[in-house]
Amino acid sequence: MNIILVVILVAITTAGSKQLSKRSTEERKIVIVGAGIAGIAAAKTLHENGVDDFVILEGSDRIGGRMRQAEFGGVKVEIGANWVQGLHDNPIWDLAQKYNISGKISDYDDVVIRNKTGNDVTDQAEEAWERLGTAQEYLGEWRERIREEKLPDVSLRVALKLGGWRPKTPLEKVIEYFDYEFEYADAPEVTSLNNTGMNEEDFTGGEYFVTDQRGFGHIVDRLSDEFLSPNDARRRLQLNKVVRTVNWTDTDVTFTTTDGSTYRGEYGLMTVSIGVLENDVIDFIPDLPAWKVEEIYQFRMGQYCKIFLKFPNKFWDDNEYILYAGSLRPQYAVWQNLELPWTFPNGTNILLVTAIADDVQRIELQSDEATKQEIMTVLRNMYGNNISEPESILVPRWLTNPLFFGAYSNWPIHVTAQDFEKLAAPVGRLYFGGEATHPRYNGYVHGGYLSGIDQANAILSCMRKGICKSNQTAVNQGTSAAPTLSSLLLAMIPVIFPVYV
Ligand SMILES: Cc1cc2nc3c(=O)[nH]c(=O)nc-3n(C[C@H](O)[C@H](O)[C@H](O)COP(=O)(O)OP(=O)(O)OC[C@H]3O[C@@H](n4cnc5c(N)ncnc54)[C@H](O)[C@@H]3O)c2cc1C
Repeated sequence: MNIILVVILVAITTAGSKQLSKRSTEERKIVIVGAGIAGIAAAKTLHENGVDDFVILEGSDRIGGRMRQAEFGGVKVEIGANWVQGLHDNPIWDLAQKYNISGKISDYDDVVIRNKTGNDVTDQAEEAWERLGTAQEYLGEWRERIREEKLPDVSLRVALKLGGWRPKTPLEKVIEYFDYEFEYADAPEVTSLNNTGMNEEDFTGGEYFVTDQRGFGHIVDRLSDEFLSPNDARRRLQLNKVVRTVNWTDTDVTFTTTDGSTYRGEYGLMTVSIGVLENDVIDFIPDLPAWKVEEIYQFRMGQYCKIFLKFPNKFWDDNEYILYAGSLRPQYAVWQNLELPWTFPNGTNILLVTAIADDVQRIELQSDEATKQEIMTVLRNMYGNNISEPESILVPRWLTNPLFFGAYSNWPIHVTAQDFEKLAAPVGRLYFGGEATHPRYNGYVHGGYLSGIDQANAILSCMRKGICKSNQTAVNQGTSAAPTLSSLLLAMIPVIFPVYV
């Protein structure tokens, strides 16, 4: 009797839990992972094309991703993206103007350089800047030739060396660092010649440093306002949903989040950083094909850590940039004076110093107090022992944050256009977007934005016209599974019976 009762109870419970799990699987046409600028741009594109049956799953409690502010020293500072990089024709500049984002074009000539004993050595750098400029002209010509004659790619280091630039002194090292590491978050040794400089070529007009107290991310907020209300009845934005598992097939994609929720879409779009994809925090079932894994690991996540310090008074130079020529290996070398008339209210007394590449790992793992001590040693070298101690320090941690694992992607040497195609190519119905997948502007906000639009259009084209993006390069190389008969038939359905959703 007891056994029968137990069996019945188990049966009821199992049926109930099956029903429950079935009930808890949300069905959507498209599931987007990530509410950074790429995910939001993708969703907005779908909405503008009449598709609203989507959900965005965001692992954190906010939208904007790497466009993020923090309260510090009585103001809000940008701990992630800060510049609109290139103005003319840059879609992000158009949005910044549309939403009246305040800031100012950075003046990279407003620089003072101090050496290890605090002397102003700016004038001594004149001749070195000229030599670097000559090498950069050579570098530009070589880049042209690589592109036109399809020559092999080389590192920026090789091109600079052959252009006659061989930095040996702390002064030479720091001006090079200002031009390269400070831009690419990585060393010239590992940065591609072929694939750098796109921004400067396409968008002239300078770089706009955002100081708007609504944040650079206000652009993302306003984009999302165009299709999402704060209490969206269709729950098209779900926060605190960390995707853990992705089951992908040729006909659908199912996402499971760490809280046990599941979402099934006819299409899926991942917009997480390349750092997230490289760190195995998401399980793909089945495993991603070899050609995809190869591409994911070819790319590098650059490291860029903006450290803010608030002082009781200002003791530093009035220039916008202060460079520290203190050693042969630049460290705490690029400083930004945020006590300029156009940045924050007078007397805010904030300095910003940027750590890059390998230094970031050490800094993120050590205590803020240890970092403060390292920084104060450099500042005392530059400005003497009588300077005041900072009242507070802010050290953002992008590298150790499992929703990012770094700052932004850097295109390494020898990566070709085909590699990019493969990185952005879908597997089954799972599409890939985000800044790293943009073939021209990877690393930048506009790269993320444009990739979101491109991937949404690719999904729309597949849904409506049956013209589906595939990884042609991998198919040609025989490294991708041949399409199955069922996937071919499914792909033809919209052509035979066009269905508009
Ligand atoms: C310090 C720093 C400085 C920068 N400076 C500039 C600059 O000055 N100018 C410029 O143009 N660009 C700059 N960038 C780069 C720029 O911020 C990015 O290229 C851009 O914001 C990327 O947008 P995205 O939507 O592709 O990715 P993200 O903004 O990373 O969005 C992806 C989203 O996915 C979410 N996510 C991750 N994993 C999961 C998961 N498992 N489940 C659910 N959600 C998940 C994340 O929380 C995130 O919100 C900077 C970046 C950093 C970090």
